[in-house]
Amino acid sequence: MEQGPSKGLHDVSLMSHDRRLAGRPRLCSDCGLCDSWLRPQMADTCLFVRNRMEEIESRLHGRRRHPGDEMRFGIYREQAILRMRRPVAGAQWTGMVTTLAARLLERGEVEAVILTGTNPGTRFEPLPVLARTPEEVRACVGNKPSLSPNLGLLDQVRESGIRRLAVIGTGCQVQVLRQAQDQLGLERLDVIGIPCSDNVTYADQQFFLDTISSSPRTVVHYEFMQDFSLWLHHEDGHRERVNYIDFPMDKLQGIFPSACLSCFDYPNALADLTIGYMGAPLGWQWVLARTARGVELLDLLRPDLESRPLSEAGDRTRGMPRFIAMLAKRPGKPPKLIRQLIAFLQRRRGPRGLEFARAIIEMKLLRNYTYVRDKFPQMEEKIVPYHVYEATRPYAAEYAATFGRAPGEGLEQA
Ligand SMILES: Cc1cc2nc3c(=O)[nH]c(=O)nc-3n(C[C@H](O)[C@H](O)[C@H](O)COP(=O)(O)OP(=O)(O)OC[C@H]3O[C@@H](n4cnc5c(N)ncnc54)[C@H](O)[C@@H]3O)c2cc1C
Ligand code: SF4
Ligand code: SF4
Repeated sequence: MEQGPSKGLHDVSLMSHDRRLAGRPRLCSDCGLCDSWLRPQMADTCLFVRNRMEEIESRLHGRRRHPGDEMRFGIYREQAILRMRRPVAGAQWTGMVTTLAARLLERGEVEAVILTGTNPGTRFEPLPVLARTPEEVRACVGNKPSLSPNLGLLDQVRESGIRRLAVIGTGCQVQVLRQAQDQLGLERLDVIGIPCSDNVTYADQQFFLDTISSSPRTVVHYEFMQDFSLWLHHEDGHRERVNYIDFPMDKLQGIFPSACLSCFDYPNALADLTIGYMGAPLGWQWVLARTARGVELLDLLRPDLESRPLSEAGDRTRGMPRFIAMLAKRPGKPPKLIRQLIAFLQRRRGPRGLEFARAIIEMKLLRNYTYVRDKFPQMEEKIVPYHVYEATRPYAAEYAATFGRAPGEGLEQA
């Protein structure tokens, strides 16, 4: 086991210790395409060579995002707060993703599903799986919170002659898949997206647990919750809780791959259906049906779901000037008393529901934009999609006061 993050704090690199990835570009999230027969298409397909959000949206929806929430959440036809009436055992939340993927196979709507299982003998190491049966889908329940090269399975899809496929994936996997879609010779491709941010390699995921938890080896499930804390569930049933403000960011900053720090699709905007949690109250799932097929997919699940109205509280914009000021500083931890006060205020007065989703999406857009401008300035026009400039416009003055230039200032597309 490594004793520290697999790259230095300020290195711009993927992950220096993973030999399989030697020779990859520094901006690579290991989506798996480059393990497949499509590797020669990488330059025309990879979102870290050119982000094609706008053109793919236009193909899928015939339009750009509308001003307002679509700039942050992506284009959608329906937004809902839902959960399974009977949660699936072992699910990350209530198991909507697993139930839907299994149902697609049960009904014969697809012949196979690409998803992420667990490497045998480990608890969290991802293993790309091409499931042909509902049982194989159910065995993949729950998050394996690190990079998983799922698109490498496109070789098996082609060799097996599969024509109707579903894919469960993160935003980077989905954008690459959409870009490659026409070459796959499929009759049907159903894309179920999960929101994703700050992903890490498996080695760094283990380092994260070692750093954060008092008992890293007994953690069976963990999630970054909407109450500004990380909940870790242990083998003996007890729950450990760590406030975000207490994370030792000086130690953790180096674990994030440069690609994940240059990623602008937290809500997985190019999926047919996105199933996450961050716009929902605790215990519920936040769902965006984006395409007509996405609405049909949600219809397949509706008999098993209960719903509650969309809700929101708080005002995210109040904390944003302080967040922008923090971006300009090196990461560190305030003194304990201040941290306790911040955690209390975040929980009591912080944004909730949809306002929480807006807050964290905007924060990640601003942070990642700053990272790209600092580390890869020559790439900005290629890899920063249009919605970043639109979504961060309300903070342009504060940003310019801190960094000397507003997001996109001087660029043609912005
Ligand atoms: C790294 C990561 C970060 C996430 N961050 C957020 C977030 O900030 N906000 C938010 O709203 N949601 C986030 N999610 C999604 C969320 O945690 C749940 O996965 C989602 O809401 C589905 O819950 P469920 O109970 O329906 O899933 P389940 O029915 O338990 O199914 C989970 C599915 O996730 C897939 N999966 C597991 N690990 C991976 C992986 N490494 N890569 C790709 N797919 C995987 C599996 O194929 C499985 O089908 C994240 C997921 C991951 C993997
Ligand atoms: S992100 Fe995917 S397409 Fe891009 S270089 Fe990495 S494996 Fe290849
Ligand atoms: S943070 Fe972005 S680049 Fe990294 S795995 Fe998630 S979707 Fe991909």
